Amino acid sequence: MNDNLKTDTSKDLWNRAKAIYISTLRSEEERIQAEGYFSMVTSVYHDDKVFHVLTSNKFAADFLAEKYADKLKLAMDLAGGEKDATLSFSYDSETKQKLYIPKTEVSPPPKPPIAKSTAYISTLPLEENYTFEEFVQGPSNSWAFAAAKGVAKNPGQKNYNPLFIHGGTGLGKTHLMQAIGNELKRTNPSMSVCYITAETFLNEYVNALQQKGMESFRERYRFIDVLLVDDIQFLQKGKQCQEEFFNTFNYLTTKHKQIVMTSDVAPKNLPALEDRLISRFEGGMVQEIEAPGIETRLAILKKKAENITPTVPNTALEFIAEHIRSHVRAMEGALAKVIVSLEINPTAELKNEDLSFILKDFIDKEQSLKKLTIKEIQECVAKKYGITVSQILSSDRTASLVTPRQLAMYISRKYTPKSLQEIANEFDKKHATILHGVKAIEKRLDVEEELLDALDSILAEFNYKISDKIE
Ligand code: ADP
Ligand code: MG
Repeated sequence: MNDNLKTDTSKDLWNRAKAIYISTLRSEEERIQAEGYFSMVTSVYHDDKVFHVLTSNKFAADFLAEKYADKLKLAMDLAGGEKDATLSFSYDSETKQKLYIPKTEVSPPPKPPIAKSTAYISTLPLEENYTFEEFVQGPSNSWAFAAAKGVAKNPGQKNYNPLFIHGGTGLGKTHLMQAIGNELKRTNPSMSVCYITAETFLNEYVNALQQKGMESFRERYRFIDVLLVDDIQFLQKGKQCQEEFFNTFNYLTTKHKQIVMTSDVAPKNLPALEDRLISRFEGGMVQEIEAPGIETRLAILKKKAENITPTVPNTALEFIAEHIRSHVRAMEGALAKVIVSLEINPTAELKNEDLSFILKDFIDKEQSLKKLTIKEIQECVAKKYGITVSQILSSDRTASLVTPRQLAMYISRKYTPKSLQEIANEFDKKHATILHGVKAIEKRLDVEEELLDALDSILAEFNYKISDKIE
């Protein structure tokens, strides 16, 4: 690596770590003291496994090593530094000695300017294109959009805290949530923003438990100014982890730190979540994103095709908007396919027949999505197992009925965009029963070939493959 680049990345890392560390200090006095010492750092660089911090005088080097080394190391780890690197503090003999001995109890040192740093910690990277500018507003999402903008402008404000965005798959929840992160990164670089999925949180929690690293797991989430948790429904998988999330949630909100969550259903439809969490989630602002209407679909497609060559003709965009309605992700797939075919054949006219041909897979899927109603699933499964639909809907727990019942639940959940609420209604069961059934089948499919074959043949009735699972 080029030396300048090496110093630059070291500097960024150092700035992030400093900001994280300072954000953990409780009193103004402690902050002033730390900033005073940090202002005496003249340069940083790393070689091999050692991160060197040079200061303008020996006293500062010794003091930093003695008082701050451990905590700074933790902050460096959180800022993305190498875990096995060590920190070294030494006196930079080339700079002019500038002695500074802070005496907090006498007169505080002059306040150094707050470092313009990027304390941006994100366990998962943000997609650069997921910005507010790239998000197309329409009646289906305007409330969620406005709320997300409000959060990005004024994070931690009571009305929007927490912000809970829910809606079907592929409708832009992750996009909006990351737009908040991207916007804050631009406007508030010293703020520590963390974007994770609930699944990551759960996994990290389990790891921390196993490796006895609970303390640092906890600490890490307490450094954060804005916590973005995607797909919170996954938290339903872990009871103990919910407790931990509850504590983190309370800690952050009492400190007026912002929390944003997304989910496929509204908080009240997260049956396996503790009531106290649900009521916390409902305590801020809850907004739904619905499937976009034709105008918004067209506007989204225009936006996605905007700066792309080859230019996609409007008629093709209209064709896609008209035929692909289920979710934006599918529209993007269809658009990508049209673009590829234009690349192969730039002079193609792309009449409707051509488009029907090129997009056959997408259109077929769309039609079967429409066709695949829960009633039909129940009928098809009943027929396959030689039982009646009313037996599927009953509460009879005979093994020969439980399998088809749960399989029908599984197909409804995994192969249709229906919400948990709708599925529960059509099966005349509670949410938890549906989730339990889906989970039971999921586990069995891993090991029971016969069941996998049954699923395959039922799906085939609808022109579906096992891999057509929505999520
Ligand atoms: P979700 O998290 O709700 O499943 P995503 O946020 O992943 O959905 O969105 C799927 C894709 O659709 C992304 O590429 C996103 O950019 C795009 N998308 C969804 N809604 C919009 C919108 N209103 N404007 C622009 N792009 C959108
Ligand atoms: Mg998402």
